[in-house]
Amino acid sequence: MIKQNILKELQLIVGKENVLSSPEDLVCYSYDAAALQAGNLPDATVLPGSTEEVVNLMHLATAEGIKVVPRGAGTGLTGGTIPIEGGIIIQLTRMNRILEIDSHNLTATVEPGVITSTLHSAVEQVGLFYPPDPASANVSTIGGNVAESAGGLRGLKYGTTKDYVLGLETVLASGEVLVTGGKTVKNVAGYDLTKLLVGSEGTLCIFTKIILRLIPLPETKRTLLAIYPNFQDAASSVSDIIANRILPCTLEFLDKMTINSVESYIHIGLPRDAEAILLIEVDGSKGNVEWEAEKIIEICSRHQPLEVKLALTPSEAMSLTLARRSAFPSLARLRPTTLLEDIAIPPSRLAEMLSEINRIVKKHNIQVGTFGHAGDGNLHLVCVTDERDEEEIKRVEAAMDEVLEVTLKLEGTIAGEHGIGLTKIRFLPWQIKPSGLKVMKMIKEGFDPQNILNPGKIFTKDSPETLSQSH
Ligand SMILES: Cc1cc2nc3c(=O)[nH]c(=O)nc-3n(C[C@H](O)[C@H](O)[C@H](O)COP(=O)(O)OP(=O)(O)OC[C@H]3O[C@@H](n4cnc5c(N)ncnc54)[C@H](O)[C@@H]3O)c2cc1C
Repeated sequence: MIKQNILKELQLIVGKENVLSSPEDLVCYSYDAAALQAGNLPDATVLPGSTEEVVNLMHLATAEGIKVVPRGAGTGLTGGTIPIEGGIIIQLTRMNRILEIDSHNLTATVEPGVITSTLHSAVEQVGLFYPPDPASANVSTIGGNVAESAGGLRGLKYGTTKDYVLGLETVLASGEVLVTGGKTVKNVAGYDLTKLLVGSEGTLCIFTKIILRLIPLPETKRTLLAIYPNFQDAASSVSDIIANRILPCTLEFLDKMTINSVESYIHIGLPRDAEAILLIEVDGSKGNVEWEAEKIIEICSRHQPLEVKLALTPSEAMSLTLARRSAFPSLARLRPTTLLEDIAIPPSRLAEMLSEINRIVKKHNIQVGTFGHAGDGNLHLVCVTDERDEEEIKRVEAAMDEVLEVTLKLEGTIAGEHGIGLTKIRFLPWQIKPSGLKVMKMIKEGFDPQNILNPGKIFTKDSPETLSQSH
């Protein structure tokens, strides 16, 4: 329960209408898109409208020892915005202005609350392109994307958020403003603090302004669908496309369970009896795109597909893209609880990883739909279950532990694009050696000695050495 004098101070800083403290409001800020984590209420949620207000909030928090959780749209999938130690949530969605689109320097300067797809549309109107494209782009904020270094559908060819952040204005736990980077592509003045802060999951600072790199909008694109009777052939096609030096901007994989749940959800005529499909998009100059599309049809045809087809109209292409964007929401409708795993392996290990996933799912008798950004080796396993069934949840957890073990054996990572947050804390020491964890903790302590910013995320209070020995 928040003290009345603190509530008054918060109201003085951001205005009475921008402080939420009723029980109904607090419940809404107790969870995000991660399952099985709800139940911790914040003491209040505040919506600042400027950097100065964020500065004043952090001065108050530091003076009073109040924990602070930054929050964008709450679409995070690892519980990063859950206020596990109470305190205040700083919701940045009021700071939602695109401050500048600079066509001469190919940059956009934005506030953190800008919705990702709003930025996409704004820059595309002037012939520019901001490639990072999480499937949640219609809802997620740029601040949340930067805090998670979000990936998305165009990662293979264009990289992820970290490849597009040139500079940041941030507010530290102490209330000090830290500015990093700038508008230049080249910048090696001291340590690269911009890169350090991208992906820091709200634990090191609050982003209040972000300078992003833009590129010219590709002239055209083509969308293809390849349908397979087994997943190995789909996986071999992915490796073969990349080995042939073709980088589609999108190369997405959907397994049979996902195909069927998407089809039942949006009814676009996906082949229900296929074991796997690939959704492929190539973009660039017209001549090159036509050549790449033809080459991809040729490569996919070598791997015994049931069919490979080119979308002939823009609306056909849009339905295929929609199919991929609907994968997670369509699976989430199937049962009361949805647990999502986010792993990445080198793309050449895709077939092995998919075989292992199938083996593990059968062994533990659980329901999993697998889909993902196959081109960059990033797979999402959506386990549909029921958190009230303790016995089933135990099987699900054992299966997911095994999936992560196999991922590491295949030279992969336990977190491709959704961060560590709360849900993956236990697994970080499986991948990061004690020396790495020690340095990460030193960085956290340097930035936030009072442990005020998003406490309990990425690390536990235990020492890293103890954690790494537990596995
Ligand atoms: C249907 C669906 C599809 C998705 N698809 C993808 C995908 O394809 N690729 C992908 O990478 N992710 C995906 N996600 C996950 C999620 O959308 C991303 O992690 C996104 O970047 C989160 O943005 P947000 O604004 O919702 O952030 P939030 O969930 O509000 O916050 C996420 C983290 O960022 C921190 N944070 C937020 N704003 C700030 C700020 N201004 N300063 C400092 N820290 C801040 C929070 O403390 C938290 O730790 C998906 C989620 C859903 C629900």
